[in-house]
Amino acid sequence: MKIYGYGKQQILPEDIDAVVEVLKSDFLSQGPKAPPFEQAICDYTGAKYCVILSNATAALHIAMLALDIGEGDEVITTPNTFAASANCVRYVGGTVKFADIESDTANINVAEVEKLITKKTKAIIPVHFAGQSCDMKSLQDVAKKNNLFIVEDAAHAIGSDYDGAKIGCCRYSDMCIFSFHPVKNITTGEGGAITTNNEALYEKLLLLRSHGITKNPAEMKFYEGAWTTEMQCLGYNYRMTDMQAALGITQLRRLNDFKAKRRRIANLYDKIFANDDRMHFLVERPNSDACLHLYPALIDFKKLHIEKRGFFEELKKVGLNLQVHYRPVYLHPYYLELGYERGLCPNAEQYYEHTISLPIYPDLNDADIEEISGRFAETLNRFTKNA
Ligand SMILES: *Cc1c(COP(=O)(O)O)cnc(C)c1O
Repeated sequence: MKIYGYGKQQILPEDIDAVVEVLKSDFLSQGPKAPPFEQAICDYTGAKYCVILSNATAALHIAMLALDIGEGDEVITTPNTFAASANCVRYVGGTVKFADIESDTANINVAEVEKLITKKTKAIIPVHFAGQSCDMKSLQDVAKKNNLFIVEDAAHAIGSDYDGAKIGCCRYSDMCIFSFHPVKNITTGEGGAITTNNEALYEKLLLLRSHGITKNPAEMKFYEGAWTTEMQCLGYNYRMTDMQAALGITQLRRLNDFKAKRRRIANLYDKIFANDDRMHFLVERPNSDACLHLYPALIDFKKLHIEKRGFFEELKKVGLNLQVHYRPVYLHPYYLELGYERGLCPNAEQYYEHTISLPIYPDLNDADIEEISGRFAETLNRFTKNA
């Protein structure tokens, strides 16, 4: 029996050749492959600047540092996300505020964001869940009115369009971060990036990526000779290797193809389950053209005589090794111990009760989708209450 996960990278010979070429060269750490990968991301998204990094968590961390967010500051994000979207605020000593989601898109609800704004609020981190953009125009209005920064967590959303432009163009934000983890839309093994149109932020990010050290004499406070490197702030080693950057370049070339394949899979699921009243899918807004990172099925467990936990186990028995996105971040023990309580974001909690992500990745063909859908429907059938 073929086992299916919810997401998987596609690696072709061209990817392997690109990595092997770097292995045979002089540069294994960040080197000559970094600028072309960064340029390719700028060209693709329309952003002015790009900084590639070791992963998206590092990207979120230095984005917070570049904005001088720290103790006493509040940052608003969604609970329906991977922990890193909130953890970055904790890394710098800030306080996380969770705004509830819209039930039909599972994205952050802008009206809920507005309710949480205080004098201490510094920034908003919207997460483009499953690849669909948040309502960035409204968020930008709110941010402008209240003098807040916006950092887009687009870990799910490289390749997605919003209002006719690519996510990452930063038309509605100060910075946008991407992840290249193997389950994301393109991969570098581990990897991440930040795009921005702000030169000052860009310069800060470059320093923070590499120990806070500059090698550029023109930027130095105390130039002491041709050997001088100078540490100007407390930075990190968040560089990406050149093997990874080379892989990123070949992956990015296929992103539009990946996007089309992901959309085709979603359309097949939509068609197959169109008349199934035991489940439904998220809604996509008219101004969104998402590169669908996830395809969550929302199951009506009231119609089944099995609970989510048991149902998930049954899916595993038929080779569907799926995942749930997401347990609301504040329901993790670390956040509960900080004082967040169950009931904080009812829509996110409700969503979590129903959601299971179906397999969606470029290498799945139509026969795979029929097979997966067949096993899924058969499992539903076995546990459906008699009407
Ligand atoms: C994957 C993910 C991250 C973290 O990405 P890494 O590259 O694994 O550090 C952050 N935010 C969201 C929403 C993610 O899905």
